[in-house]
Amino acid sequence: MKTLILSAADRNTPVTAAKIIQAGGLVAIPTETVYGLGANAMDAEAVSKIFLAKGRPQDNPLIIHISCAEELNLYCHDIPEAAWLLASHFWPGPLTMVLPVRDCIPKQTTAGLNTVAVRCPKSEVTRALIREAGVPIAAPSANLSGKPSTTTAEHVLNDYGTDGKIDAIIDGGPCEVGVESTIVDLTGKKPRLLRPGGVTPEELTALLGELEVDRAVLGQISNDAVVRAPGMKYKHYAPSAEVYIISGSSEAAAAYIRRRFTDGDAVLCYKEELPLYEGCNPTAYGSIQDIRTLSSGLFAALRTLDRPEIKTIYARCPEGGGVAYAVGNRLKKAAAFRIVNAEAEE
Ligand code: AMP
Ligand code: MG
Repeated sequence: MKTLILSAADRNTPVTAAKIIQAGGLVAIPTETVYGLGANAMDAEAVSKIFLAKGRPQDNPLIIHISCAEELNLYCHDIPEAAWLLASHFWPGPLTMVLPVRDCIPKQTTAGLNTVAVRCPKSEVTRALIREAGVPIAAPSANLSGKPSTTTAEHVLNDYGTDGKIDAIIDGGPCEVGVESTIVDLTGKKPRLLRPGGVTPEELTALLGELEVDRAVLGQISNDAVVRAPGMKYKHYAPSAEVYIISGSSEAAAAYIRRRFTDGDAVLCYKEELPLYEGCNPTAYGSIQDIRTLSSGLFAALRTLDRPEIKTIYARCPEGGGVAYAVGNRLKKAAAFRIVNAEAEE
């Protein structure tokens, strides 16, 4: 069986893809964050196929995707005012909320938790598909587990091929945000940030008045730790090489890296820094003048550098809040929090 490649621009795509979802199949879906690997969130067997195809650990729950905020009532209960407020500001968009789950969502989807993560994505074709299928779509990032996330349909093809490991891919072009959604847990006393993304901590705090930041966001979590977002403990977002973040000024970082650079090394930097790395075959993932280019370009660049001959990647990482906070979080996780200050090392 071949994998169907469907275009987001084809008006038959939502109907074709909805039939696959209703029959328990897997469809890779475009969203503004990353491409997801989707199945009917209410069908335990279909959801199990996602874990199998990705090689995803079973204790890592999935995000369910809905087509509009009103559908929250169908899958969640005891929904606080804060959830409706966030939905009215940020949906459709890159924000996921964790809420108490109703029994209609099987434990395969939630990894047995009594909560579920829910999001309403921006992509028109994906929302049309959800409406057409009449069910929520459970979808983690479409990458094979442990690989950098997928931000184009081609990335999905690279991971699964076309021989039917997944039933279809909807090609909606490159993802606009490029890093996974912001996750906020609304089941505790205070709203808690479980994963930074395109909706920034500043935007959330402005609306909610308060926001706790989970420790999984701030540092490396050991594999047997009990954490609120189980996915955050896995080595994530990473190419197979060891990644080191080199902080400090552009000049100090380039001097540090150039002193050490040998065969099997690679440099991941900002567009503006390319001239500093002549002879080191650098890869730029965006411009430091426009952080959104760094978020949309990060995973594509990490995928380019995910080659057996590359053993070490020296990476430049933006500092600060806003979207830089999400980019920094993904890169630091890819680097297992190995960060060197080039200015202190000179
Ligand atoms: P991915 O689908 O690959 O973006 O990963 C989904 C993320 O959402 C993982 O980090 C999960 O741990 C997190 N997540 C999903 N469901 C829940 C939940 N009920 N409570 C907390 N985190 C969740
Ligand atoms: Mg993922």
